[in-house]
Formats: sequence, C-alpha cells, structure tokens
Amino acid sequence: MECLELFIPRSPTQFVISTDTVQREALCCVVALAAGFGVGAANYVFERVGFQLCRALEARGVVRRFVPTGGQFEEHPLSNVWAVGAPYIALYYLIARFLWPGLSERMVVSFNLLEVWVFVWCAMVAHDAWFYSMHRLFHQVKPLFRLVHQRHHQNGSNVTVLGTAFGDAADIGLCFVAFHGALGLALWLLPRWNLVGVVTLIAFEVATNITGHCGYELPLWMHAAVTAGVGLTPMAATSKTHYIHHLDPRYNKALYFTWCDRLAGSYRDKHRLIAGDAPEKAA
Ligand SMILES: [Zn+2]
Ligand SMILES: [Zn+2]
Repeated sequence: MECLELFIPRSPTQFVISTDTVQREALCCVVALAAGFGVGAANYVFERVGFQLCRALEARGVVRRFVPTGGQFEEHPLSNVWAVGAPYIALYYLIARFLWPGLSERMVVSFNLLEVWVFVWCAMVAHDAWFYSMHRLFHQVKPLFRLVHQRHHQNGSNVTVLGTAFGDAADIGLCFVAFHGALGLALWLLPRWNLVGVVTLIAFEVATNITGHCGYELPLWMHAAVTAGVGLTPMAATSKTHYIHHLDPRYNKALYFTWCDRLAGSYRDKHRLIAGDAPEKAA
C-alpha cells in the first residue's frame, strides 16, 4: 500500500538546501523590488528633466505647444512609483527567479554601435506591433478600457511630459512590461545577447514615450536625437502622433511608427485643435 511521505529532514544537509532556497527567494525579491522601483524613479527623473527642458526650449522659441493651455501642469509621482514600478517588480522577479542564470551566461557587453542600433530598431518594430495590438484592444473592449486605460486619458488635451506614466499599472504592464518579458525570453533562447543593446532600448523607449506625451512640436534634429534616429524611419511617429491620440482616441494607437494605424485606417496627422491644422476663419 502506498503512503504519503512527510517531509522530515533527516540530515543537516537538507536544512542547508532549504536555507539556500529561502536565501535565493529573498535575493530575487530584493533585486526585483530595487530594480522595479528603480525604473519607476528613473522614469520620474526623466519626466522632470524632460519637462524642464521643454519649458526652457519653449521660452527660447525652439519648440511650441500644440494646444497652448493656461492650466496647471499636474505631476503624478505616484504613477511612476506604482504604475511603472509594480509591473517591473513582477518582471524582474520572474527574470531573476527563472531566467537569470541562463541569461547571464550568454550576456556580452559590446559597444558596437551598428549592432546596438539594429537591435534597438528591430525591437522597436516588434514593440510597435505589440503596443498597437494591446492599445487597440483597450479601446475596442469597453470594460477593459474602463479597467486599465481610462485613467491615462483623463488629462485630455492637457498632456505634458509629467503625465507620461499617468495610468494604471495593468496598462503599463500589458503595453510595456509584458513585451520586455517576451523579449527576455527571446534573449534567453539566443546564443548571445548584448546588455548595451537592451539598456539603450530601455532608455530610448522611455524617451520616445515621453516625446509622445510632451505636447510640443519638436524640430527634426531633436526628434531624431530622442528616438536614437529611429524617428527618421519613413512613416515613424512624431510627438504630434500620440498627442492627436489624446485629443481623439479613435486615432493613432501605435507608439513608434504609423504603419499599423495606416493599415487599419486609423492614422491622422491633423487635428482641428492644433494650431496650424485648424481651417482659417473667414474674415
Ligand atoms: Zn498616452
Ligand atoms: Zn489610448
């Protein structure tokens, strides 16, 4: 007759293994918490720097707001801590717990600029399709919209850099963090991967997201700089593209490029509220 065997440590070695497991779990949790909240804090710093830069350039006439508003510029520091931090904590825990030993063995650090740029461009093409699919789903399924995406649209046309991360954790988790999970899995399967490429991707992904929420028309050189040159790709999105989405959520649901929206017939490059796009009033 079979019987259930209770786990009763029979030797000190079993206690040692058990302690190692607890220590490893604790280490994964600490790394995940530090890295997740670190990303949230970094996003907040990027927002503050981007906001001050936009204001300074506006004062010098280098950039102009799409829709001048006299309203207050609202800060959302808790969005950075919670909405950005929480999903990244989950991601980094999973990576530390299940992928890291394998990932670290195949990691290289290479500053080959061409290799890094090609990786960033390819990753942005893949993320664009991912982001568009998720974002479109949010807008199509109304209960889902109310649950995860409505908050991000509450600022209406008063969009500023300070609201880049304004939204629900599930929104950022599904649109950004889940993609990074899939990317981590893909890199885990590759014979080698470059840490410099991944860090560069994250930095310019944040910069591109901030650009989309800055509310300013940027000169081409600046747009090229903040997108690592990916913004020079034909039919790439500009700061105006996502701003139009906040003015009219039916349009422009992609992040880096306009290809998906053009194919779906949801691309617009003009809006009546934007100065210069509005039809001239009759005298
Ligand atoms: Zn947005
Ligand atoms: Zn939206």
